[in-house]
Amino acid sequence: MLCTVCKEREAIFFRKYSGEYLCLQCLRKSLEKRLRQAVGKYSLLKEDDNILLVLPGLETEKPAVEIFLDMERNFPGVLISCLALSKDSIEIATEFGLHLEKNSVITPLTRWDLIVEASKYAIQISESRNFTKIVIPLFLDDAIGLFLLGALKNYPPAWVINGRVLLGDQTTEPPIVTPFFRIPTEEVLLLIGKEWRPSDKLLQSIRELEIEFPGSRFNILNSYHNLFLGKNR
Ligand SMILES: [Zn+2]
Repeated sequence: MLCTVCKEREAIFFRKYSGEYLCLQCLRKSLEKRLRQAVGKYSLLKEDDNILLVLPGLETEKPAVEIFLDMERNFPGVLISCLALSKDSIEIATEFGLHLEKNSVITPLTRWDLIVEASKYAIQISESRNFTKIVIPLFLDDAIGLFLLGALKNYPPAWVINGRVLLGDQTTEPPIVTPFFRIPTEEVLLLIGKEWRPSDKLLQSIRELEIEFPGSRFNILNSYHNLFLGKNR
């Protein structure tokens, strides 16, 4: 099957929720565009930001760092330091030549605790430094997972609202942002030729739901955003 976008190359992926067949190059372009659009639409980053990039040790970090740095290369005024919290994350940071702010490996927790703890740790480190933003690469499935977890426990451990990560339902200082929140996990993993096989039960359910009802993740994202933004108006 030919790629629906360039009509030249062989497609490697069928994006069910949009009906597009995509080749690797067009998939990458599409994800980069989604990243830039999130940054622009929700004013997530500025041209002179001093960024602390947090890598807790999630499987999506390598392609996330790659497309993020590609985007930031257009903004030479941006400074990026890295807080790497797993052995793999330290390797990724080193491979991309990122300045390591600190590289303490934290004990593996559940994915969700890890996200929350890594965020808190990043804020703690920011207190003595002048970081203006904390960036943590959380994808669409992470955002949905945090929301569902919050709904199950009747209290959100963290929310991703319009690309900002709230702890509990509080904004943080400096702000924690994730411009990746509208990118499905399986799509970013395809950039490094990996298939998404989540070990986390909640992520498995989200994946099954999406297979059964393509587009449901975006529907959930939009509904909980409306819910949250309506409540806090
Ligand atoms: Zn193409």
